[in-house]
Amino acid sequence: MAILLLVLDGLGDIRWEGKPTPLEEAHTPHMDRLAEKGAVGFHTTIGRGKVVGSDVGHLALFGYSLSHYPGRGPLEALGAGLELRPGEGAMRVNLATVEGGKVVDRRAGRPPTEVGKALEGLLTMEVDGFEFVYRHTTEHRGVLLIRGPGPVAEVEGNDPHREGLPYTYPRSQDKALEKALRKYLEKAHRLLEGAEVNRERAERGLKKANALLLRGFGRMKEVESFEEKHGIRGAAVAGGALYKGVARYVGLDVVEVEGATGDKNTDLEAKGRAAARLAGEYPFVFLHVKATDSFGHDGDYEGKKAFIEKVDRELMPLVEEAFSTIALTGDHSTPWALKGHSFHPVPLLIASKPCRRDRVKVFHEYACMEGGLGMMEAKDVLEVAKGLEGLQPKVGS
Ligand code: ZN
Ligand code: ZN
Repeated sequence: MAILLLVLDGLGDIRWEGKPTPLEEAHTPHMDRLAEKGAVGFHTTIGRGKVVGSDVGHLALFGYSLSHYPGRGPLEALGAGLELRPGEGAMRVNLATVEGGKVVDRRAGRPPTEVGKALEGLLTMEVDGFEFVYRHTTEHRGVLLIRGPGPVAEVEGNDPHREGLPYTYPRSQDKALEKALRKYLEKAHRLLEGAEVNRERAERGLKKANALLLRGFGRMKEVESFEEKHGIRGAAVAGGALYKGVARYVGLDVVEVEGATGDKNTDLEAKGRAAARLAGEYPFVFLHVKATDSFGHDGDYEGKKAFIEKVDRELMPLVEEAFSTIALTGDHSTPWALKGHSFHPVPLLIASKPCRRDRVKVFHEYACMEGGLGMMEAKDVLEVAKGLEGLQPKVGS
């Protein structure tokens, strides 16, 4: 039997100007049945009142504290399939358009993923003892791995975060690295300018993807693996690169699922089927669904609500019976009315045969206030799930 941690990203919401929350309004018979069988409440990710990104939120749910957070760069790089050793640096990259020394488009006109893939091979090189490895991910996005002679020093990126500003170069306390980065970016610019794909784009009146903007530096850390920490092996099913990256970072086996895209068109049935299959092989399965958060960011109430219903209809029936313990929650709240992550505690449902059932029979934020789990810390969610599975050794004699 196995534990499922099902994370609907940014699930938490609030009632707003007379409207119930999307989760409250959504028709979710499967989630409600689970609530009836289990107990509900909330978790706070890293403490009351704190607002977190998805990366930190997930690390907390896996039981890791902020001191284990390596920054966004390494997590994205791991998610893109790069191998990172402790001390190596990684940054997020945008392919951008630079004309006359100015950043005219931070996203190079949002080219299809194939454009970046075609350019990928030009962007890996060694400069003055530093190795730069570029891996393209989606649309205009990629990641850059930086390998140095020793631990890589902090790098301040060169993304101006808006258009029309001059193209600059990253800064670092390590002047050798700063110089190598500048050379790398200058060379990358020359190679990109001359690339066949960009010549074609220019002929068609499209913007050239001819420069790199770097941000989100982080240094890979040594981290205790999930198995060492929890005593059980785990697998992960996710579409988005960041979530695969966080899972890989803690040593979960990331299982690729065709059709898992990390957006609203993701194949929920394929993900549910994959998770259910993994329940036979792993005592722990993490399943991530992204679009709830995206609808929250877009301020799209109906979208968030309809997507929750879709999860209930297409995914929940596939996992309901496959796992002996299910923890259903989010990694933070993303209230549609606030269009961003918020500090609000995240609704949590834990269902398992030996759990202490409460009286709540529906799953939403305001019902969770009446629930038996109360207010938990994210790091304890897995501990409770392990307890329910009989995986907690007695402390003391
Ligand atoms: Zn998130
Ligand atoms: Zn978000």
